[in-house]
Amino acid sequence: MKSYLQQYINGQWVDSVGGTRHQVISPSTEQACSEITLGTQADVDAAVAAARSAFDSFSQTTREERVALLENIVAEYQKRAGDIAQAISTEMGCPISVSQTAQVGSGIGHFMTTIGALKEFEFEERVGNNKVVHEAIGVVALITPWNWPMNQIVAKVAPAIAAGCTMILKPSEECPGAAAIFAEVLDAAGVPAGVFNLLQGDGPTVGSALAKHPDVDMISITGSTRAGIAVAKDAADTVKRVHQELGGKSPNIILPGAPLEQALPAGLGGVCLNSGQSCIAPARVLVHSSQYDEACQIAANFMNNLTVGDPLTEGQHLGPVVNKSQWDKIQGLIAKGIEEGATAAAGGPGLPDNVDHGYYVKPTLFTQVTNDMTVAREEIFGPVITMIKYEDLEDAVRIANDTNYGLSSVICGDPVVANQIAPRIRAGMVYINAGTPDATVPFGGYKQSGNGREFSKWGISEFMEIKSYIGSVL
Ligand code: NAD
Repeated sequence: MKSYLQQYINGQWVDSVGGTRHQVISPSTEQACSEITLGTQADVDAAVAAARSAFDSFSQTTREERVALLENIVAEYQKRAGDIAQAISTEMGCPISVSQTAQVGSGIGHFMTTIGALKEFEFEERVGNNKVVHEAIGVVALITPWNWPMNQIVAKVAPAIAAGCTMILKPSEECPGAAAIFAEVLDAAGVPAGVFNLLQGDGPTVGSALAKHPDVDMISITGSTRAGIAVAKDAADTVKRVHQELGGKSPNIILPGAPLEQALPAGLGGVCLNSGQSCIAPARVLVHSSQYDEACQIAANFMNNLTVGDPLTEGQHLGPVVNKSQWDKIQGLIAKGIEEGATAAAGGPGLPDNVDHGYYVKPTLFTQVTNDMTVAREEIFGPVITMIKYEDLEDAVRIANDTNYGLSSVICGDPVVANQIAPRIRAGMVYINAGTPDATVPFGGYKQSGNGREFSKWGISEFMEIKSYIGSVL
């Protein structure tokens, strides 16, 4: 078992003041695989004080100094890529081949994109005789989930450094190992003491204390809508900026006449890649009534051909879902789907046939789904896909938008029609005929999927305040 028992505060690994031990259970073995200390209010106070005292000098560093620092971090990160991938696969069950590529690679991608954006960032603009400047917002708290741990950590840490902020990262208690290694990376890269602090801990204690803290200027959370709401409420009394990247239930509109054999697999594979545990997973597949039966057959075959297996073994199989409570929740939703009248055309309840332990879920396809069913409304966060029929494009757009979420969407088929309906989709991202997440364009949601945008120059802007100089401006 790996131990990450200390907190990283003010450039030192230190013991928690009064924290309690927490074991992470590997979702493939159901055995403890790592342990951390869940932090306390005293740890939060110490980390915030360290970040506050580092802010004056770090916020005044030049663009060139921050570019150099980010480049050092990339070099150190690459040295630890294997360790990070191993920690992710062990703790949250992502297949190792995905951890080594997409999981670790997303971190490098965000660093490189942020460095490019920082080199070009317009910190100052003239408006008549006046000057408008963009400057670091201050001490920022960053709360991240377990599903794409490096993606979300670096999508916050890199732009916060680029902006000149100092920070406290609270990663998910479900996947703390990669974050601890990341702190070692920043330490080795020479990040000045207090600029980056890592607090291991849970949401209700450390997360909430950060959101409430009067000396934190901004809080950025990626997680469930439930946690995002709690953070916003906790942050309200101190009027800090709240940035939220939250849940999703994204539609995948297969346009009438689309070649199904080509159109369907990318979206289905995108949902299942991380066992359905991606916020942008296009898990509601919308198909025209004339092609519905054929699409369901193709999709069922696709799901039936997927296999699950040990995340630490190379291969194309799916891993388990993150933990027992998530497995139980998914099983409950699969049962609910059947109870409400959907047909499990692939998969269904229980463990897949080839395993007798671990939190594995059968890749499940629900057909005969209507958009009012629970499986079409709730974010399942498992390899569970719903097939929904529409009658015409108006109906498709209506169903696509009939959700509390608005993070992402996919449209497959005639590009002219896709571009015509894309402006009517109430979501922060529209993927037209495939396309994978791209760190050079903004990422974020409408409605209950969040507020604000990450990635590239938009991500840097989130961590900045705007100041006007009026009068005798030089
Ligand atoms: P979660 O909400 O349980 O936890 C996310 C983080 O918030 C964790 O660090 C957790 O400790 C913390 N947290 C929980 N309760 C808190 C509270 N009351 N106050 C402060 N912090 C709190 O989510 P999860 O299970 O780790 O991740 C899955 C969720 O994240 C899904 O809903 C998914 O859609 C969402 N997500 C969104 C994006 C995005 O960019 N929009 C990306 C990835 C994941």
